[in-house]
Amino acid sequence: MSRPSHASARSTDFNLAEAIRRLRRVVARWRQPVVERVANEKPDPFRILIATMLSLRTKDETTDEAARRLFAVASTPEAMARLPEKRLARLIYPVGFYNQKACCLRAACSLLLERFGGRVPADIDALVTLPGVGRKVANLVVTRAFHLPGICVDTHVHRISNRLGWVVTKTPEETERALYDRIQPRWWPYLNLYLVTWGQHCCRPTHPRCGDCPIAARCARVGVTSTGKSRPPARRLSRGLQA
Ligand code: SF4
Repeated sequence: MSRPSHASARSTDFNLAEAIRRLRRVVARWRQPVVERVANEKPDPFRILIATMLSLRTKDETTDEAARRLFAVASTPEAMARLPEKRLARLIYPVGFYNQKACCLRAACSLLLERFGGRVPADIDALVTLPGVGRKVANLVVTRAFHLPGICVDTHVHRISNRLGWVVTKTPEETERALYDRIQPRWWPYLNLYLVTWGQHCCRPTHPRCGDCPIAARCARVGVTSTGKSRPPARRLSRGLQA
């Protein structure tokens, strides 16, 4: 019969939207991911692209400092393409794979100048032609810099979506496709921000703090075999005040 399944689908969608709303309230109290900070400070697609490239496999604090050093010297494709690769590598050190990233940054800036008139294209297919830019980076750039629809799925989004039981997938690409079917479009641009912040502070890769989790009642905890200690209330408060 169709009625029970429709009722169940409505209930699941309600729970999912309610879980996202709760996450939005909680993550607003915590320090934002570095790309969000860069976008809020200056909503320049070029800075957002470069900060996202730097952030791959790198802690946010390290990316933040590297991006500030780099943008103080070069904040346009022209200026960055002129920098010798070794200088670029020194400026962004110690982000992960800094030598490789310096090479990609320079080549990407040259291609932006040659093919796109020095502007960052607002198109995922065009963005992934740039060296060092994969679908994850491209998705974050089009959603954050151009406010186009999309879901940027990184390891946090992939892991947490599966733990919550929102999707059952093996790769971030599968997760991205599945989330488009599960999540209302109004949440797409924000899902990365909410789940990355959540993954950095609470639903960590190992030992998630399920005891502190305001959406635990809505979480299937798929694959969670051990949890971390809850934070004492005072510590939770001081962390929240850092935002
Ligand atoms: S209950 Fe645990 S596994 Fe589920 S979202 Fe919360 S922290 Fe993550």
